[in-house]
Amino acid sequence: MVETLPFDNVALELWARANAEALTYAVFLGLFALMGFAELVLARSRAPAHRPRRWSTNALLTVLWVFTAPIFPLSLLGASEIAQARGWGMMNWFRLDPLPAFALGILARSLISYGIHVAMHKVPLLWRIHRVHHLDPHLDVSTTTRFHPFEALASAPLVIAGIMILGVSPLAVLLYEVFDAAMVVMAHANMRLPRWLDRGLSLVFVTPDMHRVHHSADQPETDSNYGATLSIWDRLFGTYRRKSQVELAELRLGLEEVRDERVQRTLWLLASPFLSLRRSMQRQGAHAG
Ligand SMILES: [Zn+2]
Repeated sequence: MVETLPFDNVALELWARANAEALTYAVFLGLFALMGFAELVLARSRAPAHRPRRWSTNALLTVLWVFTAPIFPLSLLGASEIAQARGWGMMNWFRLDPLPAFALGILARSLISYGIHVAMHKVPLLWRIHRVHHLDPHLDVSTTTRFHPFEALASAPLVIAGIMILGVSPLAVLLYEVFDAAMVVMAHANMRLPRWLDRGLSLVFVTPDMHRVHHSADQPETDSNYGATLSIWDRLFGTYRRKSQVELAELRLGLEEVRDERVQRTLWLLASPFLSLRRSMQRQGAHAG
């Protein structure tokens, strides 16, 4: 008789339905506090100037983000349930065992995030929204949720479409959110892990060293390392970039378009999707019209 793996997906899904949302917030806030403390000890770059101003701007955008994100009526879980019930989505076409279905679901969900992040950089209209995240001239845990509220509105339908097309299971949808909450906080932390640890983890996961390159002001580097949780998609699609410790220490963060105090003004950032900002050294600090 063949031993089955101890993977009780029914019990796990019931548990996840009851607890995943609370767990996502707990993991996010817990790691936010922990990484904030770790940054004091393992900081890669020293405290930036105007820290209170920068932190208050990032905090305000985070609050707006938290209130905007749930506006979209069809939740990610709801989309997954509809796809499953109607047999929509590639993974719902096959009778997969629970464990492979879950593992493939997590992979598919992370691929969706990767694809949307690439679109945020490559589609000009989406870049206008997403660049608020990249205009931060420094990087620490406060950058994690520094997004324009439009980004939640723009990305939610794309995530929902991805979940329905690929047929990501409800369990994978729920637990991916917990995984994502943990990984995005760690990826943005201004923290240097031991080299061997960062190298080992980055074979599969996104690490602080890897994501820091994504926040480089040098455009080919800004357009690399798109992964939020897993590094495998960047490796697979040729967008993976690695830099030495010396290069990382000297990395210029933010965007060349605007490097003055506007990047710390919440109202300017909220209006910035409507402004044309050229990617040019000559225009830095010039008018933003
Ligand atoms: Zn980005």
